[in-house]
Amino acid sequence: MGSGSVGTVAIAGAGLAGRLLAWRLLRAGVAVTLIDARGRDDRDHAAGVAAAMLAPYAELVVSDAHLFALGEASLALWPRWLAELRGQTGMEVDFHHAGSLVVAHAPDHPGLAHYADLIRYRLPVGKRGEVRDLDASALAALEPELAGRFARGLWLPQEGQVDNAQLLPALEQAIVQGMARVGGQWLQHTVVEAVEAHAVHTAAGASLSADVVVDCRGVRAQWPGVRGVRGEVLTVTCPQVRISRPVRLIHPRYMLYIVPRREGRYIIGATELESQDEGPITVRSMLELASALYSVHPAFGEGRIVRAAASLRPATDDHQPVWAQQHGVWHLNGLYRHGFLVAPALVQQAENTLLPLLGQVAAPALEGAP
Ligand SMILES: Cc1cc2nc3c(=O)[nH]c(=O)nc-3n(C[C@H](O)[C@H](O)[C@H](O)COP(=O)(O)OP(=O)(O)OC[C@H]3O[C@@H](n4cnc5c(N)ncnc54)[C@H](O)[C@@H]3O)c2cc1C
Repeated sequence: MGSGSVGTVAIAGAGLAGRLLAWRLLRAGVAVTLIDARGRDDRDHAAGVAAAMLAPYAELVVSDAHLFALGEASLALWPRWLAELRGQTGMEVDFHHAGSLVVAHAPDHPGLAHYADLIRYRLPVGKRGEVRDLDASALAALEPELAGRFARGLWLPQEGQVDNAQLLPALEQAIVQGMARVGGQWLQHTVVEAVEAHAVHTAAGASLSADVVVDCRGVRAQWPGVRGVRGEVLTVTCPQVRISRPVRLIHPRYMLYIVPRREGRYIIGATELESQDEGPITVRSMLELASALYSVHPAFGEGRIVRAAASLRPATDDHQPVWAQQHGVWHLNGLYRHGFLVAPALVQQAENTLLPLLGQVAAPALEGAP
């Protein structure tokens, strides 16, 4: 235990959930040992592959009021947390809360109408006005690059995105700093074989003890029924196309989204396959994503594919996230396809559970948090 720390937490898994929780606990003065099978710079976990859209409305096609509330609470937390992260590390993480668009080609307008109906149906009544129908001119006013390409669309003004390629290294730096100050260590390239109350056992035969153990290993965690849902994405650089906010394309066979990042980069996603295969992207998926992209704007044809990546989204049977204790071990899991959307609110719940157990004062609850 480091100087001034009040307890120790061992966290198995340093993806999205593990990193965020480690950072928050270290800030609160808790020594954290973070153990991951990957190196710190490895970006092939779900956290590093994701598009990191913050889309509580669009996600309602696969979610519900509880996830929506977690998403809204997290959207309020992200700017506060990113300001704290910047204050601690000096590292900027792009966060946009400027809405997203949903479009469809003319034959798919019935699909777009159904999509809008489903979202409105699942929204709290008072929020239904936040799903706005667009005609061609309103769409062109929001995204001039799409002028003349789509006759109808939807505007979801409350959605956003965070740049995970910036977030993950910023969290890494803050965690390493926190460990130097409070205590703990980051064990890289260390496979966790089993977790139990107060102990983590590695595949190499070592055992670590801690006051509290949290399993954040996603699809590899010891949580019953957790499964992987494969997702594949492309990163394309295409400075010729200037889209400023996430755009989704409704299509009868697959869903495409285009998420703009700095310097003409776009994250193009994503397949959603019931498969535990973590292997590289298939030719079929590459073709589907690239041709759907080309159908949104032919100038993408000149874009460069600079990364093709695949990972597994950790999902529970009912697609609800998990913050629970089982056999003495805490589990933060089931973040599925909306981990960035819900993680801050869940991690805050985790802090509020664990800090009192460790003799610390819990962070004040965010107003409106579920
Ligand atoms: C293609 C794709 C697109 C996505 N897009 C979005 C999006 O737009 N918006 C959004 O909100 N969410 C999105 N997500 C979901 C989001 O990425 C996940 O919900 C989130 O990353 C899950 O976090 P996690 O920490 O549970 O798992 P991960 O981020 O996968 O981290 C798990 C960690 O556990 C480690 N680990 C596993 N097994 C072991 C072991 N035995 N020993 C030690 N370490 C181990 C792994 O190395 C990894 O670092 C997307 C996901 C994918 C795959």
